[in-house]
Amino acid sequence: MSELDGRLHTAARAIPFVLPEKYVTQALQAQFIKQEDYLKHSKALNQSAKQMGVEHLYVLSLRGADVIFIANSALLAGMNIERDGDYLPSHSERFTLVRSAIAAGQPIFGNIHDQYGRYRSIAMPVLGGDGVVYVLGADIAVDKLLARQSEARIRAFLIGLLMFGFGVLISWLLASQMTAPLRRFSSAVHRFAAGEFDVRMPMHRHDELGNLASAFNAMGDAISAREHLMRQLAFSDRLTGLPNRVKFAELLSAYLIKTPSWLAVVMIDLADFRYINDAFGFDAGDRVLCTMSDRLSQMQPEHLKIVSRISGNSFVLLLSADNETQTHAQIQMIEAALSESLFLGEQKVNVAIRSGIAIYPLHADTAEGLLRHAEVAMFFAKRDRESSVIYDPSREEDRLNQFTLLGDLREALSENHLVVYYQPKINVSTGLVGAAEALVRWQHPSRGWISPGLFIPFAEKTGKLRGITEWVLCEVLRQQVEWQRNHVNLLISVNVGVSDVEDIQFVDFVEEQLNKAGSAANLCLEITETGVMHKPDAMLQNLARLRRLGVQLSIDDFGTGYSSFAYLAKMPVNELKIDQVFVMSMNSTFESVSIVRSMIEIGHILGLKVVAEGVETIGIWQALAVMGCDEVQGYLIAKPMAANELLDWLSEGPHQPVELTPPSMSNF
Ligand code: C2E
Ligand code: MG
Ligand code: MG
Repeated sequence: MSELDGRLHTAARAIPFVLPEKYVTQALQAQFIKQEDYLKHSKALNQSAKQMGVEHLYVLSLRGADVIFIANSALLAGMNIERDGDYLPSHSERFTLVRSAIAAGQPIFGNIHDQYGRYRSIAMPVLGGDGVVYVLGADIAVDKLLARQSEARIRAFLIGLLMFGFGVLISWLLASQMTAPLRRFSSAVHRFAAGEFDVRMPMHRHDELGNLASAFNAMGDAISAREHLMRQLAFSDRLTGLPNRVKFAELLSAYLIKTPSWLAVVMIDLADFRYINDAFGFDAGDRVLCTMSDRLSQMQPEHLKIVSRISGNSFVLLLSADNETQTHAQIQMIEAALSESLFLGEQKVNVAIRSGIAIYPLHADTAEGLLRHAEVAMFFAKRDRESSVIYDPSREEDRLNQFTLLGDLREALSENHLVVYYQPKINVSTGLVGAAEALVRWQHPSRGWISPGLFIPFAEKTGKLRGITEWVLCEVLRQQVEWQRNHVNLLISVNVGVSDVEDIQFVDFVEEQLNKAGSAANLCLEITETGVMHKPDAMLQNLARLRRLGVQLSIDDFGTGYSSFAYLAKMPVNELKIDQVFVMSMNSTFESVSIVRSMIEIGHILGLKVVAEGVETIGIWQALAVMGCDEVQGYLIAKPMAANELLDWLSEGPHQPVELTPPSMSNF
C-alpha cells in the first residue's frame, strides 16, 4: 500500500471514532436524516479530515439501488455535491467505487475524476450493528497534493540554496574576520622576529584582534624607536655626534675596497686631558672635546676623509695622501689647528696632541689592522712624549718582549698567582644578595696586583684565555662546595671569552666540572655582547647545551655592541647586563637614562633578567628601581672582595644602603 493509500485507509478507519454509532444506526434505519443532525456530524467529519490530512471524509449507505450520504465533510468545505437530495449520482465514478466496495466486501481504492477535481479515494465497507452494510470514504485531492509536493520540493530546494549561501557566507566571514587577520598577524610576528621592525598590522577593529593588533603596533613603534636610537648610539659618539670606532672601521673598510694607493690612519690623543677634567670639571672637558671635533670637521675634506671619536680623549682620522711627506704635512696642519689656544671661562688653555700613524698598504691592509697599528704607534708617542709616531713593527715586538706577560701568565696559573674576587649583586625588589660576579686578579710576584683589564685582553689576543677561564671556573666551583658547608648558596657569574664558548671541548669541560661539584654548583657564564654578535649557529648550539646543563647565561657589557632585537631573541640567555658606561652616565645625561630604560624594556620583552653594573650612587639605584631593573652591582653595594671577606660581608647585612628612600623619578 502506498503512503497515500495508507493515509486514506487510516483516515477512513477513524470515522467511527468521530461519528456516534447511534447516529449512524438511526440514519441507516430512518427514511430520512434530520438536516441539523446531518450538518452537525458532517461538521465533525470536516474537522477530523483536516486533522487526518485528507480532503474529504464521508459515510455512505445503500438505499435500494441508490447510494446516499449519511455524513459528508465536503458539504461544509463549500463543495456542492450534485445529488438528488442526499443521493450520489449513479453515473459518477464515486458511485461505482462505493458499489464495488460493497460488492467486494473489502476496501477499494480508486481514482475519481469529477467536476471538482481529481481525487484518490477509498471506499471501505463496514457491517453495521443490525447487519446493514455502509461505507466509510475518504478523498485526497491529487492536484492539491501534486501542487503541495512541488511546492515542498521548491521550498526544500530554496532552503538548501539558502543554507548553502549561508554556509558560504559564514566561511567567507570566518576566513576574512578570523583566519585572514590571524594569518596576517602571524606572518607579521614572524617578520618582526626576523628583524623587520617596521611591520605593522593595518587593522581597524574593536574586538580582541583589534586590541592585539594595536598592542603589537605599539610594541613595534617602541622597539623601532629604540632600535633606531640604539643604532644611532651604536655608531656615533654621543657627545660630538662623530662616527665612533665601529662606524670608523666600517667606513674605512669601504674605502679599502676601492684599493687606494696610499691612506693614513691617524690616532690622536689629547695629552693630559685628565687635568682639564680635574681642574675645570667634566663640562669644560666636554667643551674642549667638542671644540676639537669642530676644528677637525672643518678641515679640508679632500684630504681628511673621516673624523671619528673613538674613546674619551682619542680621535681617529683617515687621511688620503700620495706619500709619507704629504702625510706629515697634513698631520702638521692638523696639529697646528688642534693646538691653538682655547678659552675655558677666563682661562686660556693649550692642548698638546700625540698621534700614532699607520699607513695602508705599508702596515696593514685591513681596517682593524690599521686601527690597531695606529693605536700601538700612539702608545709610543704618549710614552715617549713625541707629537707623532709612525707605526714600526720592530718596536711593537720590543714592547711585547718587554712585557713578557705571556711567560708570566703560564707561571701565574701553575703557581697559583691568580685570585678570584667576588662582587655581590643585589636583587632590587627584595634587597637580598643572591648572586655575585667572579673577577680574577693577578698577584704578580714583582709587579704587584694586575687588574684583569690589563691581562685578559692580552691573553685573549694570544689565545691564552682558556687556561684562565678554566682555572677561574674550577676555583669558583671549589668555593661553592666550601660555601655549601656554611649554608651559603650564591649564583656565581664567571666571565668567559667567545673563543671559550665557541669550542665544544669547553662545554665538555664545564659538564665534567659541574658533575664533580654536584649540588653545590650554581653557575652563570657572562659573555660580552660584542663576543656573541653575529656568531655562527654552532656557538648557539653550545650555549643551548650549557643551558641544558643548568648553567645560566648572561650577555655582559650590553649596549657596547649592536645586537638586533631579532638576534637577541634567538640567543638562549637568561640575563642582560647593562654596561657600566651607560649606568654611570645616567647621572649626567638624559639620553643615558632613556637608553638604560630601553635596555631594561628590551630585556623584559625578551623575558630576560636585567642587571645594571657600575652602580655607584643612590640616585642611580633609585632610577633603576623605578625602571624595573632586576639586579644591581657596583661600588655603591660593594667592591669586588676575596671569598672570605665576602662571607663576613654577607653576615653583616642589610646590604641595601641605609639612605635608600622609596624610589622616585624626581631626580631625573
Ligand atoms: P666586567 O665583567 O664587565 O666586570 C665588571 C667590572 O667593573 C669589574 O672590573 C668590576 O670591578 C668593575 N666594577 C664593578 N662595579 C663598579 C663600579 O661601581 N664602578 C666602577 N668604576 N667599576 C665597577 P674588573 O674586575 O677590573 O674587570 C674588568 C673586566 O675584566 C671585566 O669586566 C671582565 O670583562 C674582565 N674579567 C674579569 N675577570 C675575568 C675572568 O675571570 N675571565 C674573563 N674572561 N674576563 C674577566
Ligand atoms: Mg662581567
Ligand atoms: Mg660588564
